[in-house]
Amino acid sequence: MFNLRLLLTIALKVDSNYHTGLGDSDEVDYKDPCKAAAFLGDIALDEEDLRLLKANYMDAKKNDSSNFPIPDSDRSSGGNAKDDSVLAGQSLLRRRRAATARPERVWPDGIIPYVISSNFSGSQRAIFKQAMRHWEKHTCVTFIERSTEESYIVFTIRPCGCCSFVGRRGGGPQAISIGKNCDKFGIVVHELGHVIGFWHEHTRPDRDEHVDIFRENIQPGQEYNFIKMEPDDVDSLGEVYDFESIMHYARNTFSRGIYLDTMLPKYEVDGVRPPIGQRTRLSKGDIAQARKLYKCPRCGESLQDSTGNFSSPGFPNGYAAYLHCIWRISVTPGEKIILNFTSMDLYRSHLCWYDHVEIRDGYWRNAPLKGRFCGDQLPEAIVSTDSRLWIEFSSSSNWVGKGFSAVYEAICGGEVRRDSGQIESPNYPDDYRPNKVCTWKIIVPQGFHVGLVFQSFEIEKHDNCAYDYLELRDGDSENSPLLGSFCGYEKPDDIKSSSNQLWMKFVSDGSVNKAGFSANFFKEIDECSRPDNGHCEQRCINTLGSYHCACDPGYELSVDRRSCAAACGGFISKLNGSFTSPGWPQEYPPNKNCVWQLIAPVQYRITLLFDAFEIEGNDVCKYDYVEVHSGLSTDAKLHGKFCGTEKPEAITSQLNSMRVEFKSDNTVSKRGFKAQFFSDMDECSRENGGCQHECVNAFGSYSCQCRSGFVLHSNKHDCKEVGCDQAITSVSGIITSPNWPDKYPSKKACTWTLSTTPGHRIKLAFEEIDMEAHEECAYDHLEIYDGPNGRATSFGRFCGSKKPAPVISSGNSMFLRFFSDNSVQKRGFKASHSAECGGSLKAEIKTKDLYSHAQFGDNNYPGASDCQWVISAEKGYGVELIFHTFETEEEADCGYDYVELFDGADAKAPRLGRYCGSGPPEEIYSAGDAIVIKFHSDDTINKKGFHVRYTSTKFQDTLHTSK
Ligand SMILES: [Zn+2]
Repeated sequence: MFNLRLLLTIALKVDSNYHTGLGDSDEVDYKDPCKAAAFLGDIALDEEDLRLLKANYMDAKKNDSSNFPIPDSDRSSGGNAKDDSVLAGQSLLRRRRAATARPERVWPDGIIPYVISSNFSGSQRAIFKQAMRHWEKHTCVTFIERSTEESYIVFTIRPCGCCSFVGRRGGGPQAISIGKNCDKFGIVVHELGHVIGFWHEHTRPDRDEHVDIFRENIQPGQEYNFIKMEPDDVDSLGEVYDFESIMHYARNTFSRGIYLDTMLPKYEVDGVRPPIGQRTRLSKGDIAQARKLYKCPRCGESLQDSTGNFSSPGFPNGYAAYLHCIWRISVTPGEKIILNFTSMDLYRSHLCWYDHVEIRDGYWRNAPLKGRFCGDQLPEAIVSTDSRLWIEFSSSSNWVGKGFSAVYEAICGGEVRRDSGQIESPNYPDDYRPNKVCTWKIIVPQGFHVGLVFQSFEIEKHDNCAYDYLELRDGDSENSPLLGSFCGYEKPDDIKSSSNQLWMKFVSDGSVNKAGFSANFFKEIDECSRPDNGHCEQRCINTLGSYHCACDPGYELSVDRRSCAAACGGFISKLNGSFTSPGWPQEYPPNKNCVWQLIAPVQYRITLLFDAFEIEGNDVCKYDYVEVHSGLSTDAKLHGKFCGTEKPEAITSQLNSMRVEFKSDNTVSKRGFKAQFFSDMDECSRENGGCQHECVNAFGSYSCQCRSGFVLHSNKHDCKEVGCDQAITSVSGIITSPNWPDKYPSKKACTWTLSTTPGHRIKLAFEEIDMEAHEECAYDHLEIYDGPNGRATSFGRFCGSKKPAPVISSGNSMFLRFFSDNSVQKRGFKASHSAECGGSLKAEIKTKDLYSHAQFGDNNYPGASDCQWVISAEKGYGVELIFHTFETEEEADCGYDYVELFDGADAKAPRLGRYCGSGPPEEIYSAGDAIVIKFHSDDTINKKGFHVRYTSTKFQDTLHTSK
C-alpha cells in the first residue's frame, strides 16, 4: 500500500547539505546522489523532484484513496509539446514515455563530460567506456573526458550503491555512483540512461494500461519506487510503452521474495507475455526516445569500427533537398582517423553556400573546420588530430547529383606532442585487431621527462612476449635503449624516460586478441634535482608526478615530512646485539613510538633479555610500555606488555622473528630500558633434532627426551622401552599409558604405585582415555586400587573412551595397573594425580603421622585450605594426639589460619579448642573413640604448618589436655 506514512519517510530524508555538498570529505565537491533529498530506487531526487512527487501523491489521494493515480490521458496530453519540436504534428492522444520533461536537464548538444574516480580498476574503467560507447553508437550523445567544462559527471562509489540523478543538474560535477555489484555493462548503461534524462519506464503516467503492480508483494517501505510520474516531470516523446526498455524494472524488483512478482505486463505481445527488466542493451524504444530527446538528426550515424564507409542518402542515385545528416566517427583514443572521399558530386556554389559536406576535427559542430566541400573535385585525404571526426552534410538545392561517398580508417600511433594525455591500444576497451602495428612517439616540453602510468593492461601472454606485445624505448626511435617489452595481464610498473621523449610500439599477431592497454602519460619533473633538494633535509625520492623526503639510517621523518630526527626502532637481522630506548641512559622523550623488528635465520629462535628496565607505570601499562610479540606484526603471539621497574623475564620467540615496541605518552619520562638479544638455532625445528621422541631445545644445544615407559638410548637420540612399573611420590603429576600420545604396545602390563604424605589422600583425574572398549573391560584396561598394591580394594576397571570421574583414595596410597592384550591398540590414557588433604584415619597402637599439607617440610602450607580429618580408634579405645610441630599465622582470636579439634566423630561434637600461632597443646586425648582435626588457612601469610602423631589409647579417663 502506498500511504501517507511512506511519503513522510521520503520527506524525512531531506538533507539540507545537498546543495553545497558540505561535510563530504571527497575532494570533488560534486552533487552527490547520496545526499539527494530522496530516492526512487536508484534515482536520486532533488527537492524540486520531491515537491512534484508529493503533489502527485496528494492528487492521487484526492482521486482514489485506495490505489495509485489513474492516468488521465486527456489531462496529460496538455503537457510540454511546445517545448519539443520533434513532437510537432504528433497525435493529440500521444502516449507518454519516461524521459525528463524539463529542458534544463537535457545536456546541451548531447555532450556529457565525464571523470572516472581513480579508485576504479582498469577493467571497471573499460566497462564504463563500453557503456558510454554503447550510448554513443545508437544515439547522438557524446561522452568526452572532462577538461574545463563546468557541468560533468563523476563515476564514483557512494554509499547509495548504484544511483544517479535524472539528467543534467548543472552548476558543477554530479556523481554517478557505481557501487559494488553494479559494475556490469547493462547496469552502467541503465545508470547512464538516468544521466541522459530517463526515469524508469514503469513510472510513466500511462503505465497502468500496460503493467499490473502487485503492491502486496512489494518489500515494506519500498512502495514509493512504484509511484507514477506526472506529465510535468515525464514526457514520453510519443513513444509507446516499452517492455524491452533497459530502464524498465524486472518482474520481481523490490519484491518481498524472489518468486513473488511486483509487476507484470497486462497483455501479451506476439502471443507471449513480454519479458521485462533486461539489462543487456538499449532497446529500440530506448534508442528512439533518446534520439528524440536529444533531437538527433534522422540521417547519419555513429561509426565506431576501426574502418568503415558512409555516403549521402540515395548515393549514387542523387540526394533529396533539405537533408541534414551527421556522421560521427569515433575510434580509440590514441588513434587518428584518415578519411578519403571516394566520390564527390554535390551542387557547386560559391563557398559551397548551398549543398556541402563539412569535416570537423573533433567531436562536435564547433570543432575546428578541416574542410567544406561541394562540386565534383575529390578532396585530399583528411587526417584527424585526435580520435574523433564530425561530418555534416546539408542540401538545399533541387539539383540532382550523385552525392558523395567516403571511406575511413583508424591509424594508430603517431607523434604526440602534449603535456599529458592518454594512449590506448587500437579498439580499446574492446579487443584489439589482429596484425596491428602501432608506434607512438610521445614528446613533452624540454626539461621534463615522460611519465607513463598504466590504467589497464591485457595483452596475449607468452613467456618472451613473442606474439603480441608493447615495447617501450627511452628516446625517440626504434634504436633507443629498450625500457621493456610487455605482455600478459599484469600492469607494467610506472615508466619514466630519461629525456623528454618516449617511444612506444604495439604489435599484435594474427591470432588471439585481448582488450589491450590504456595508459596515461604526462610531463614529469624530477623535483629532487632542484637545488633545494625538494626541501628535504636528508634524502629526496622522486616518484612519477610527485616526490617525497626520506631519512638516512638512524633517522626518521618528522611530522613536517621534510626534516629528520634521531630514530628509534628498526629492522635488525644480526644474530645478537643490544638496543635501548631512545635517549638511553637519559630519560626517554615523550610521544615516542619505536618498533624494533628482529629477524634471525630460519630454524633460529630469538631470546630477549633486559639488562635495565625503568618505565612509567606499574601493573596497568596504559601510559608508557614495552610490548613484545613473536613474529614481525602485532597479530603474532603477544609475550607481554611491560612497564614499571621490574625487569621482565627472558623472552624467547616462537619462530625466527620478534617485534619489540616501545611507546611513551606526553607526560612522565623514565630512563627506559636496555636490552640484549641473541639468536639460537633451534636444532629441534629440523627433523626433530634427530630425536626419536621429544626434542628439547636449549641455548647452544638441545637434548632428546623419551615418552613414558621409555628411556634414552646411550646414543642420546633413540628411546628404548623399559619395564613399566613405577613408584610415584611426587605431590602432583601426570601419568600416561606407555608410548602416549601414540598407541600403546600390545601385551603390556604396567603398574604405578602412588604414595603421598601421611594424612593425605591421592586424587586421580582423567584428562583423556581411549582404550579398547568392552562391557567388563575384560581386554585392555586400567584398574585402580585404593591402597599400596593390587591386594587393596579395587575402585574398578576402566576402558573405552568415556572419561571416568575423578578417583580419590581413602589413605595415602593408590595402585594402578594397566593391561593390554595382543590385539587392538589405542592411544591409552592420560591422568593427573594430586594430593588431597583430609579423610578418615585409623588410630592404632602403632603411632602414625599426620601432616598439615602434603609438601610439609619443603614448603609452607598453601593458602585457602580447608581440611578435615576424622581419626577413630577401635571401640573402647581413645585417640591420643601429640603435636610435634605447630606453626600457623598468629592472631588473638585465631581468626585467620587455625586448627580446631572436636571431641567426636564429626564437627558437631564438642569443640576442644581453636589454635593458632605457635602455642599449641602438646597432647590431646579424646573422650570417646574419635577426634576431628580441622585445618583452615586464609589467602595470606602461610607458615610451616603442623605435624601431629596419633595413636589409640586405653586411657580415656585422663584429662583431655595436659599442658
Ligand atoms: Zn534506475
